[in-house]
Amino acid sequence: MTKPTDEMENDSAVYKTLLESTRAIPWKIDWRTMQFAYIGPQIEGLLGWAQPSWASVQDWADRIHPEDRARVVDYCVAQSKAGTDHEADYRALTRDGGYVWIRDVVHVVRNAEGEVEALVGFMFDISERKKTEEALISLQKELEALSFKDGLTGVPNRRMFDSVMEEEWERARRNSQPLSLIMVDIDFFKQYNDRYGHIQGDSCLKRVGQALNSAATRPRDFLARFGGEEFVLVLPETDEAAAHKVAERCRQRVFKEQIAHEKSQVGQILTISLGVGTVVPARGDDPMAFVEEVDRRLYRAKQGGRNRIVRGG
Ligand code: GH3
Ligand code: MG
Ligand code: MG
Repeated sequence: MTKPTDEMENDSAVYKTLLESTRAIPWKIDWRTMQFAYIGPQIEGLLGWAQPSWASVQDWADRIHPEDRARVVDYCVAQSKAGTDHEADYRALTRDGGYVWIRDVVHVVRNAEGEVEALVGFMFDISERKKTEEALISLQKELEALSFKDGLTGVPNRRMFDSVMEEEWERARRNSQPLSLIMVDIDFFKQYNDRYGHIQGDSCLKRVGQALNSAATRPRDFLARFGGEEFVLVLPETDEAAAHKVAERCRQRVFKEQIAHEKSQVGQILTISLGVGTVVPARGDDPMAFVEEVDRRLYRAKQGGRNRIVRGG
C-alpha cells in the first residue's frame, strides 16, 4: 500500500530530524561516483569542517591521520568491495589542526541485482573512550615496570633481566665458568605492524617469545623481553659452541612457526637476527660492556642481511 505523499514527506522530515539530532553522525556515499550523497551537519560541530566541504571519498581520506590512513582506507575499500559491513577506528583531522578519535560503522547497500550501490554509516566520537584506554595502558606500563614479568608476552621483562644478569655474572666470575648471551631482534617488524596491524603484531611477539623459550632447554637458561621486539637469552655455564647451537635452534624454531610476513625483505616468512657472545668474567669486567658487545654483533647480523647469527671473532 502506498502512502499519500504528504504523509511520506512528513515521515522523511521526521527521519531527517532524528538523524541530525543524534550524537552519531550519519553519512551516505554513492559507490559509483565515490561522492558523499549526504553527511549530517553535526560533522561541523565535531571536526570544524562544514557540511559542503565533504564532497568526495578523497576528502574523507585526506582528513585521516597519516599514520592511520593507509590501514583504514585499504581496509574499508576491501570490505566495501566484498560487500561486507565493517567498522574502523581512526583519528580524524579537525579544522584547527587537531585530531579526534572516530569510530566509523559502515553498512553496504546493494541494489536489486546485488551490486554495491552505496555505503551508509555513522561516525561516533570515541575520544573519551580512547582517553580512558590510553590512561589504562600507561597505568599498565607503570605496573609492569614494578613487576618482573612483561604483560604482553608473559616472559620476564628487562628489569628481571638486569637482576638475573647481575647474579649470573657474579656466579660465573666466582666459579670461572663461561656465561653466554644471545640478543634477538625480529626482522622488519615495523613493516609487520604496518601490514598486519598492532594487534596481530602483539600476538606475533607472543609466538616468538614462546618459540625462543622452547629453544633454551637447560634449567638456568633465562629468556627475557629486552624491549620492543627484542629478546635476550642468558645461558649460564655455556661455552661458545653450545651458545651458537642454541642461537641456531632459536632461529629455526621461529622460522618453523611459519609466521607470514609479506613485507619482509628476507622472504615471505618472519625471521630473526641474533648476536651471540661468551665470556668468563674477570674481576673488574663490566657486564654492560659485554651486553653492548653482543648487541653490536646483532647489529652486524642485521647489516649482513638479517635472518642470521653473528658470534665472536
Ligand atoms: P630491523 O629488521 O632492522 O630490526 O627492522 P624493524 O622494523 O624490526 O626495526 P625497527 O626498530 O625500525 O622497528 C621495530 C618495530 O617494532 C617498531 C614497533 O612498531 C614494533 N614494536 C615494538 N614493540 C612492539 C609491541 O609491543 N607490539 C607491537 N605490535 N609492535 C611493537
Ligand atoms: Mg629493534
Ligand atoms: Mg627489528
